Amino acid sequence: MTIAFTTREGGVSEGAYASLNLADHVGDNPEHVAENRRILLEALDIPNCAECLVNPVQVHGDTVAIFTDEAGKEHMEDAVELLDAQGVLLFTEHRTSPELECDAIACTVEDVPVMLCYADCVPIILVAPNGCFAVVHSGWKGTLKSIAEKAVHALSVASGCPSSSFNAYIGPHIGSCCYEVSDEILDAFVAEFGEACDAFANHLDLEYAVVSALRSAGVESDRIVSSGICTACSTDCFYSYRAEGGTTGRIAAIACRKGVS
Ligand SMILES: [Zn+2]
Repeated sequence: MTIAFTTREGGVSEGAYASLNLADHVGDNPEHVAENRRILLEALDIPNCAECLVNPVQVHGDTVAIFTDEAGKEHMEDAVELLDAQGVLLFTEHRTSPELECDAIACTVEDVPVMLCYADCVPIILVAPNGCFAVVHSGWKGTLKSIAEKAVHALSVASGCPSSSFNAYIGPHIGSCCYEVSDEILDAFVAEFGEACDAFANHLDLEYAVVSALRSAGVESDRIVSSGICTACSTDCFYSYRAEGGTTGRIAAIACRKGVS
């Protein structure tokens, strides 16, 4: 099992995107992005998985996809209708952007890296004890739409493991120190997750909301760990959409269930 949260260091992109920008939709040179992705997979010792990389178009929604194989689909047979009713996409063939739009992907298949991109939103990687995993993009919109909870439920179905057995890893994101929001957004969070979301003077504690969502989906508190890093405070190491005025690169959360080779 390989999981990683990247920094912005060690790549070939230049200017506002310097240097390990992993997103292909932010105006960076596509050749640089491709090279950065190659560098990342090489560093993770999965260079042969480049063609299998799953990287969706992220739309700040609440759609979860499950990537599995035919055998996995059979295991899930009883739940297929339910997943369909919940709007969960189930696919057994390789899909990536631009044809795949979602903000969380659960994966049961070996040697398929799943990567989502971030600049301030909350990256979450969930890992089941049998190696099935999910990668989640939880910005403020997705958090209010319960994307993390939905991803936990989808991974539970896909893996056949209870959510209480999952480990949850939260990567670098904008901290409450730097995240002032409107009254409207703050009110919505307080209504959904309680007063503790209101850190101080309209500063939103997005991580608190995400942890609450994971816990209410059955993930144990002592299985949730966060990097504790604020992207906006640390633009030397990370990209921050807010701190850098919108033109910047994206870090990534990536996971891959390695097959025995
Ligand atoms: Zn900060």
